[in-house]
Amino acid sequence: MQTVDAISLEDQFQIPTYTKIPIVLARGEGAYVWDADGRQFLDLYGGHCVTLLGHCPPRVVDAVREQVGRLIFYSNSVYSPVRATAARALAEMTPVGLRHTFFCNSGSEANETALKLARKSTGKSHVIAMQNGFHGRTLGSLAVTSNERYRSPYADVLAETTFVPFGDSAAVEAGFADRSDVAAVILEPIQSMAGVIDAPIEYYRTLRKLCDRHGAALIFDEVQTGVGRTGTFSISEQLGVKPDLITLAKSLGSGIPVGAVLVSDVLAATVASGDQGTTFGGGMIAMAAVEATLHTIKDEQLMDRAGVVFDHLTARIRPLVRSIRGRGCLIGLELDSHAAPIRTELLQRGIITGSADDPNVIRLMPPLNIPLDALDDFATTLEMSLDAVGA
Ligand code: PMP
Repeated sequence: MQTVDAISLEDQFQIPTYTKIPIVLARGEGAYVWDADGRQFLDLYGGHCVTLLGHCPPRVVDAVREQVGRLIFYSNSVYSPVRATAARALAEMTPVGLRHTFFCNSGSEANETALKLARKSTGKSHVIAMQNGFHGRTLGSLAVTSNERYRSPYADVLAETTFVPFGDSAAVEAGFADRSDVAAVILEPIQSMAGVIDAPIEYYRTLRKLCDRHGAALIFDEVQTGVGRTGTFSISEQLGVKPDLITLAKSLGSGIPVGAVLVSDVLAATVASGDQGTTFGGGMIAMAAVEATLHTIKDEQLMDRAGVVFDHLTARIRPLVRSIRGRGCLIGLELDSHAAPIRTELLQRGIITGSADDPNVIRLMPPLNIPLDALDDFATTLEMSLDAVGA
């Protein structure tokens, strides 16, 4: 099927919820994808921060192929060898004290689960979340996502949330002072959609202290930062802060849909049978993908590449941009002008990049194993694209 046919069929038969990049991708390998007409693109978007090992990483492909022929699915009403070993592989990579897991299917579901567990364990119900944070589109996750564009049509059913500016621990303190029913503080440790924004280490440490003082759970939404993208399995390891709950998705299955909530030992002890459930969470295909993804990261020491990628890229492009934000393979380039025309130029020259809520930011989410010469190609192409639009 050629490009034009695929576009017209999708537009005809899907509801129009997405603004799509006008390309039709048929194949992927490593940091590259090919469209239906055979044109190659360097993919620095990763299907929205998903392909941390590149496209079709061979061990994941083999593990999934093998599992499909063995047993496609059985729910959590039984035990499974591949779920057992995937859970152990995950526990071995997660920070000590956070080694209990609930498997689900997406980032939104992971956040909903974390919020439910926080409410149940604290016996409280209110949540403090951050302005410009993003946690998902389902009603529970949307309740803690501040963007009015997503929220306003559903305002009547969303749980009340206190939104405070990201990076402002005094505002969180004031949020706690205002009420005694705060169950959780939830945040993306790096606000990705907002434009790849982080805060000083002291901020995260103060949040930990405030949650301890007020008996609230600290939830890190690591749907984007997790699984080694920033150089450690959880960014909390770099911040020296232990959250009570960490949510993961996106990279965890290298593209096979899967989410997970990492639960502290203390909080896990409060969970009872029936507190949460999902049919497909922990399914065999997803578990095979998780196990192969984690073993690849570990055996190939890919987390060490995060800093190498960041340093190589930033050394090349620092003179071209106003600022560079982020860590490892989660990078925001702040330009002096709007990013959209430059992303279009990059696409025309064969490079896929991501947007952000901040219109001047290009987001890059390359795989950990991206070749350095691909980053050089990006730097050269960025320079040409900036020249082409006169930026
Ligand atoms: N949290 C963050 C930080 C995200 O970036 C996203 C998705 N962009 C989500 C949660 C929701 O994940 P999903 O789309 O898998 O439900």
